[in-house]
Amino acid sequence: MNIEKIMVVGAGTMGSGIAQTAVACGCSVVLADIDEQRAIAAVGLIGKRLERRTAAGKISPQEKELLLSRISTTTSLEDCAAAELIIEAASERESIKQAIFRRLDALAPTTTIFASNTSAISITRLAAVTTRPERFIGMHFMNPAHIMELVEVIPGLRTSPEVVATIRALSERMGKKPVVVADAPGFVANRLLMPAINEAIQTLQEGIATREDIDLIMKLGAGQPMGPLELADFIGLDVCLDILETLHRELGEKFRPCPLLRKMVEGGKFGRKNGEGFYDYR
Ligand code: NAD
Repeated sequence: MNIEKIMVVGAGTMGSGIAQTAVACGCSVVLADIDEQRAIAAVGLIGKRLERRTAAGKISPQEKELLLSRISTTTSLEDCAAAELIIEAASERESIKQAIFRRLDALAPTTTIFASNTSAISITRLAAVTTRPERFIGMHFMNPAHIMELVEVIPGLRTSPEVVATIRALSERMGKKPVVVADAPGFVANRLLMPAINEAIQTLQEGIATREDIDLIMKLGAGQPMGPLELADFIGLDVCLDILETLHRELGEKFRPCPLLRKMVEGGKFGRKNGEGFYDYR
């Protein structure tokens, strides 16, 4: 199945990058968010990123306009009628995602494929709230989605091989490298990454080194492009906590979120997205 029309649900950090990636490979995108301002801001952000590509001579001004013309925004899931694929990139809460998929299942054509960009939640469990588990799959983009090459593709218990093939082919058309992994908490990327981030926060909490030194050690010592605390701010501390909560609940004690991470989220420090995290971005 060749996908041309996509709905992206959730216009935050990931939704904007996924929408940009989708229009760049020729698809049209309806970008939906419960918060209209988030959807409008996401298109503004995509416009700015494309403007930078235009200034660098990578795309022409006409191409930029063409790409932007392929995106529309909505606050209503009812606008999914034409979508062949819906990629859900809403907040990392199982109850929110389940509610979205229940509603979409009632609204979207029976042929529409549902994909979740969840970082850690069971694809099989999300699929089970719909009447189409064979057309449900995990499509886990990395952040920033318009730049990072990897897409983890996660079939649920009932996902059909045809849907896996369609999502692999679409990922490749998007210029990505799809890697199929089994449906398990955090899949591979976050099962390995989140404990490292959590331990970096624990190290900071224990006063073993400053935030700058923890990041410097992992950049210079482990060849990482970003230190773990900078990366946590980039991902979103609220998202990191939600992912660790899932891993802790489902995989056990070694994934327990560090108290300092919980405190930062409870105090409204979400990282780059709202200006304050381990570092100050204001
Ligand atoms: P975010 O907080 O930046 O954005 C979430 C968006 O979802 C918000 O704009 C919010 O208004 C919207 N939303 C909430 N409830 C909604 C609903 N009922 N209907 C429509 N929109 C709704 O979060 P994010 O970082 O973009 O993460 C989105 C998803 O992508 C999560 O599942 C997350 O785990 C996953 N993810 C995040 C990263 C990352 O680095 N941030 C990387 C890979 C995957």
